[in-house]
Amino acid sequence: MDSLNKILKIKSRVLDFFLSSSNYTEAIFLTELQTILKEELNADTIAISVEEIAPIYKQNKINEHGVSYSEKLDNKEHNLKNVNMLLYGENDFQGLIELTFTSSSIPLSKESFNELSKELSTIFQQYSEYIYTRFEEKQYEELYKVTSKFHSSMKVEGILTEIVRTLRNMYEDFSYQLLLTSDNDHLQHLPVKKLNFDDSNTSAMEAYVTGELQVESSLMDRRNYVYVPIKGEQGIYGVLQIISLDAARLPNKELTFITLLANATGTALENAQLYEQSKQVISDLQLINETSHQLNSNLRLQEVTMYMIKKILYFFHAKEVAFILFKQEGAEVLPGSTDFFLQDDMEDYLSDIHDHLYAEGEPLFIGDLRIQERLTKLPFCSCMIIPMHLSNGVKGVCVVTHSLPYFFSFEQFKLLQSLIHHSTLAFSNSMLREELEKYVITDYLTKLYSRKYLDDKIKKSMKYDSYGTFILLDIDDFKRVNDTFGHQIGDTILIQVSQIIQSSIRETDIGARWGGEELAIYLPKISLNQGEQIAGRLIKNIEDQTSPQVTVSCGVSFWSKEMQDSARDLFRRADFALYKAKDLGKNRLCIELKEYCG
Ligand code: GH3
Ligand code: MG
Ligand code: MG
Repeated sequence: MDSLNKILKIKSRVLDFFLSSSNYTEAIFLTELQTILKEELNADTIAISVEEIAPIYKQNKINEHGVSYSEKLDNKEHNLKNVNMLLYGENDFQGLIELTFTSSSIPLSKESFNELSKELSTIFQQYSEYIYTRFEEKQYEELYKVTSKFHSSMKVEGILTEIVRTLRNMYEDFSYQLLLTSDNDHLQHLPVKKLNFDDSNTSAMEAYVTGELQVESSLMDRRNYVYVPIKGEQGIYGVLQIISLDAARLPNKELTFITLLANATGTALENAQLYEQSKQVISDLQLINETSHQLNSNLRLQEVTMYMIKKILYFFHAKEVAFILFKQEGAEVLPGSTDFFLQDDMEDYLSDIHDHLYAEGEPLFIGDLRIQERLTKLPFCSCMIIPMHLSNGVKGVCVVTHSLPYFFSFEQFKLLQSLIHHSTLAFSNSMLREELEKYVITDYLTKLYSRKYLDDKIKKSMKYDSYGTFILLDIDDFKRVNDTFGHQIGDTILIQVSQIIQSSIRETDIGARWGGEELAIYLPKISLNQGEQIAGRLIKNIEDQTSPQVTVSCGVSFWSKEMQDSARDLFRRADFALYKAKDLGKNRLCIELKEYCG
């Protein structure tokens, strides 16, 4: 009865303590157990061990309930009485309580100790479960924390930092390595390595390929390696390597937890990747949309070129960019292209590019020009060439280069193709418009300006300049030339005369076809004296250089701000002077000044 009360008291005190707090550690619990047993059983020493008790179990002859008695003398010749009680877990023993009594007698019988051992084992089992549940709780709390952080972060670095932090928090004795398929050179502060497909680490490869967790024990270095695939919904992004330093194996429950953690990481990495991809797609579309929009707004050819080159330099981080047109007259690097392509000695490069374009006509994506047979003369490594099919059969290309090898990605190549495709129409339109403008102001046969253009320019000059000279020029006896040589030869003479005029005047002067075989020259800011000299030189040159030979007569008129004048009157005076020159025997010039003209 007394023994039973003692056992009940011990049990109730231990339970009381067990229930009193939810926050004690294993050490606190064991110390309290020790105190209670010592007080209630009056023992001299009490030792409780909860690990590695197998050797003791074997040493002592412990009965089936796990209690053994022994007696021996210590070195002070005390008669020591030992009682060992085993604590059982669900399947195996979990701990050992060693009691020593010297002075006092043993307070309980063997049967009662058996009883106590059973009671304490039950409590101990619950205690273990409780401790484990608390650990699991902490684990899942961590998992929850880490996944919510993953959801709020779309950055790969943030995700990897978080998983490493969580693992270190949970299993501080192990070491970790994330073997990832993507390049993460910028994450050297994290235990991240690239998973190489030619890796000698077969277990890591096995985990990656099969998607199954792999465990490998190495007797050599007494380590265990666990490889957990980092899986998302759509693929495997790498393998988590866990190394335990001693031979301790991770229990299955832990492996399940780590697998969950790796899966959460895989999903997070996948989301981050998809997010990055969608951001890229959006920015690509924005670029194309913005470009198309800009190019729709009637730009000049040079503006189109400059706009496109600015965009390409910015978006592709290119070193040199050029738009090159291949016309019958030869290759033309459009103004606005970067300096390299605008150098004087570009013929070789241009003919290289030209030859490729006409040989293959396909877009070209080269990672390293040094190991390519074609385009070897270009001093770049990375090179993209996109052909453009423009109006009037003109072909062109956009060349984008960089000095580093493999600088552009294939995605960028595709984006550039799309960009050039969208801009080609704008190039064509600008080119056509500029051609048309030229066509309208140019005489078809002589390639001199049209009369309308001359009229406009003279009116503008009379508004803004101070003076100018006008020369009207008529081929002498042209009817006879036509009659003698035929109209076609007549035409070539007209062209010859026009070319002589064109080569005798400056860019700012205007040579025009006045009508029929009459030509006109307007010389802004040229004095009458200079104008007379120019006309005289022309008359001589035409006589000398035409074949069959013709002569011309010129009427010269002049205006200046000092006198009230008009374009119409300027023309009329020149016409009158021309008439005079014809009348005086042709192949000469006459001047008609304003005073003399009523
Ligand atoms: P004059 O010295 O008085 O100017 O004699 P002319 O024969 O030049 O006389 P006129 O001005 O009357 O004749 C101009 C001739 O020029 C008539 C026309 O057949 C010819 N002509 C005008 N335009 C062209 C052209 O585009 N091509 C050719 N081949 N002939 C032209
Ligand atoms: Mg005439
Ligand atoms: Mg004539």
